[in-house]
Amino acid sequence: MTHLALRYVALTDVGLRRSNNQDSGYASDRLLVVADGMGGAAAGDLASSEALGAIRRVDRELEDDALEALEVVVEAANRRLGDLIEADPAVEGMGTTIEAMLWDGEKFAVAHLGDSRAYRLRGGRLVQLSTDHTFVQSLVDEGKLSRAEARTHPHRSLLLRAMLGRDDNAADYSWLQPQLGDRYLLCSDGLSDMVDDEAIERSLTHESIDVAATELIRLALEGGGHDNVTVVIGEMVEAESLDEHSELSCADGRPQIVGAASDAPRPRTGQVADVHDSTAALAVDPEELRYAPLEPSRWRSIRWIAFLLAVALLIGAALWFGYRWTQEQYFVAESDGTVAIYRGINADVPGITLRHVETRSDVEVDDLATFQRRQIRDGIEVSSLTEAEQIVEDLRDSIAPETPAPTPTPAPDPAAPPAPAPGEVPAP
Ligand code: CA
Repeated sequence: MTHLALRYVALTDVGLRRSNNQDSGYASDRLLVVADGMGGAAAGDLASSEALGAIRRVDRELEDDALEALEVVVEAANRRLGDLIEADPAVEGMGTTIEAMLWDGEKFAVAHLGDSRAYRLRGGRLVQLSTDHTFVQSLVDEGKLSRAEARTHPHRSLLLRAMLGRDDNAADYSWLQPQLGDRYLLCSDGLSDMVDDEAIERSLTHESIDVAATELIRLALEGGGHDNVTVVIGEMVEAESLDEHSELSCADGRPQIVGAASDAPRPRTGQVADVHDSTAALAVDPEELRYAPLEPSRWRSIRWIAFLLAVALLIGAALWFGYRWTQEQYFVAESDGTVAIYRGINADVPGITLRHVETRSDVEVDDLATFQRRQIRDGIEVSSLTEAEQIVEDLRDSIAPETPAPTPTPAPDPAAPPAPAPGEVPAP
């Protein structure tokens, strides 16, 4: 029976758009891992490197079943993220994808969480082994979206599951039986978003895995390089022929660590201001929004405050213009028993007076006809001050129709009996 062994290579590139690398990659003759960190510039690199640091502990002589051993370290990685988040709320919302393959000498134990991918090249044909834990993949599964549409969907990077330091996002575990000549590619979405399966297949068939990895990174950059791009390749060869290609990067037998995990990032707290990182965060890194339910609370509250301020300003402006408008209106109504012209509107908002007397006339309301009195008490709306003055004039005219003719007071007749005093009964 052929004894299989693993050749390996890990390569990463920050890409053309991002300021730092939040991916971590690992490759050894036992273990292949890709972790794509998220949580913005604040913590994505920390999440992927810490998770990878916990998982690579399984890269040793195995005592247990490989799948159980892998599960133990993946869960330890998750707890590690949970502890970091609990210790420093500034990194809340960070997380990472996990794609890991552990070789036990016969087969691979596989862990998958998120949208990093595992592909297999066998007999020149590429097959995607993993199923993305993404919103668009769920639409593809339901038959609502084709795979081609999913590739260009605006929300294609929105994850439904990722390692977040919580106990509600478990990884998928499975066994995988390799064959001689198989090549396995683990990659972050920085590759799969930029390079289609046909091009990945062509690149993977290159004679050496080192060249294949370089070619894949080159294609991702050529395709736009929007994201960090990480590729880890494992190749199944005969154990006896493992040393045949001394020019390969794995010829020294040492593990390869790339990306954030090789930089050993530290948590950035509020006390340790990092100008570079804070400017990157201000630009609203789309990676911060990848896991929708867990936007970092700091930015969420700042956005809320900005939103509320904008709403308050709009309401303030509307009220101000509204008040200005009321102060250009006039109406005629009663004021202390006389007819007056008011500026404003004939209504009040609680707490705000929207009218005041502009001019008071000498027209007494009691002198007006009943229907006029009623009108004045209700208030007569007009379109201008001139019209208001005209109405007052008309009212004044209506109560002074004709000056009564003076009637001479008759002289008292001394012969006439005195008029009886009020309440006095006249004498018979
Ligand atoms: Ca990514």
